[in-house]
Amino acid sequence: MDMNYDVAVIGGGVVGCAVTFELTRHGFSCLLLEKNSTLVSEASAGNSGMLHCGFDIKESTELQCIQKSQAHVFDVLNTFSVPLQRIGATMVAWNDEQLQKFPHVVKHANNVGVEDIQTLSLSDLYQKEPNLNRKALGGLYIPGECVTDPWLFPMLLMNDARHKGAKIFTDSLLESCHWDDKRWMLYTTQGLVKSKCIVNTAGLYGDIVDKLAGKNNFSIHPRKGQFTIYNKSSSHLINSSILPVPSDVGKGVIVFRSVYDNVIVGPTADQVERRVRPPIDDNLSHRLSTVAMETVPSLLQYKVDMKYTGLRPATEIKDYVIRSDNDKNWVTVGGIRSTGLSGCLGIAEMVRDFVQEDIRIEPSRGSCLVLDKPDVKSTTHGTVVIDTTEFTITHPLSMVGHAGQHSKL
Ligand SMILES: Cc1cc2nc3c(=O)[nH]c(=O)nc-3n(C[C@H](O)[C@H](O)[C@H](O)COP(=O)(O)OP(=O)(O)OC[C@H]3O[C@@H](n4cnc5c(N)ncnc54)[C@H](O)[C@@H]3O)c2cc1C
Repeated sequence: MDMNYDVAVIGGGVVGCAVTFELTRHGFSCLLLEKNSTLVSEASAGNSGMLHCGFDIKESTELQCIQKSQAHVFDVLNTFSVPLQRIGATMVAWNDEQLQKFPHVVKHANNVGVEDIQTLSLSDLYQKEPNLNRKALGGLYIPGECVTDPWLFPMLLMNDARHKGAKIFTDSLLESCHWDDKRWMLYTTQGLVKSKCIVNTAGLYGDIVDKLAGKNNFSIHPRKGQFTIYNKSSSHLINSSILPVPSDVGKGVIVFRSVYDNVIVGPTADQVERRVRPPIDDNLSHRLSTVAMETVPSLLQYKVDMKYTGLRPATEIKDYVIRSDNDKNWVTVGGIRSTGLSGCLGIAEMVRDFVQEDIRIEPSRGSCLVLDKPDVKSTTHGTVVIDTTEFTITHPLSMVGHAGQHSKL
């Protein structure tokens, strides 16, 4: 594995896969290092699978990345045939205080360019969502909120990069690195590698990897999110993702439908100490069934197929941390906490700008922007064959969804 690359990307979550995809198609020779045996196995394996349009995101790097992503993501998903449902979202006010926030939500959405947000009368709301609890006071409809396959999307980004020459190494932990004034020496559990530039996309370990280069940009404060997945026989109960009105404490728990038509309740948001995926809380069923009852009461009559947890790589900063050190050819992409699936293509474009314009690395190969349609076949045993290689599905939503395609139930 002793080789020279233009760029070494550290971490194979959705962000690392998108960065490797973007840089490779623009002609950079890339190496993706992932410490685990499978890609997409940490923060990216525990999200809600929603593609947010950014209607409720403050002006920030995060918003810029989501907006940049929105410009391309539908073409990419379409070319790769990744399932997508443009189901939209309905924000529901359950009390007067929440109702009074609606004009601010609409104004902000308009300010950030989401102009198709609609205020619904109560009768429109119940016509759209007839199974909603009868205690609602009003609703907003956001057509641009979508759901997709949160595992297949990053895996196909990686697959495209691999076909165009990127090297993907799993079971490869970056242990230390050394800058020799021209290039980085990367000491990994698989041996030494050299690259002109390093992009740190290490998610929940982003601060630790930054410290390997003597940087102290942020620290990770993992935030746990938990979900219940209902059997897809309940899918007719909702027609869009049902959002609460955000409060000072956060965005709240959503009742939504996955791209494979399972109804999901989640995510919770609790600060935790450890960076490894935590167990499901004993009281989770009670906590989330209370939300289900208050939102779509008849959901409680349906079977829960699975519960899962995810960990957000949150930091002390309420924004993404994307910056470059042009003297040492290092790009940090940290704190991609709750919208990484939605923003990944924009993040990747921003990283390419840093590598090309600021650090000024010349791609050592020709670019190849054309995307080939991959051949994707899911099996009956929790794997998907992408072109000729078989991969284990690591995301519970995708796992349940692909299994459901084979089940006669
Ligand atoms: C509960 C929850 C709900 C969410 N819902 C949504 C949603 O609906 N829509 C949305 O857009 N986003 C959502 N997100 C956010 C999204 O999942 C994250 O923003 C995204 O997964 C972050 O990806 P990442 O690649 O930065 O991190 P990760 O997926 O954690 O990837 C980092 C990788 O780096 C590897 N790594 C770390 N250190 C090293 C090292 N030294 N050497 C080699 N490899 C290393 C890790 O093993 C890991 O695989 C949600 C997140 C959670 C937890």
